[in-house]
Amino acid sequence: MPNPKKKHTRSRRDLRRSHNSVIEVPQLVECPNCKSMRLPHNVCPSCGFYKDHVVVAQKAAEKEEAK
Ligand SMILES: [Zn+2]
Repeated sequence: MPNPKKKHTRSRRDLRRSHNSVIEVPQLVECPNCKSMRLPHNVCPSCGFYKDHVVVAQKAAEKEEAK
């Protein structure tokens, strides 16, 4: 079994743990169709657009609001 030869210092141990607890904020991009913020490489949750065309059909009530 591979085993560490020396005990790591408190400083080194705590530095490692400090990086494991960092919470990443998801990056957001603007939708080219409705200008709302969405996750990159994901279908827009508000208009259902992805790569310049509708991928997910909207609900009837939301379509009437757009007209
Ligand atoms: Zn959109």
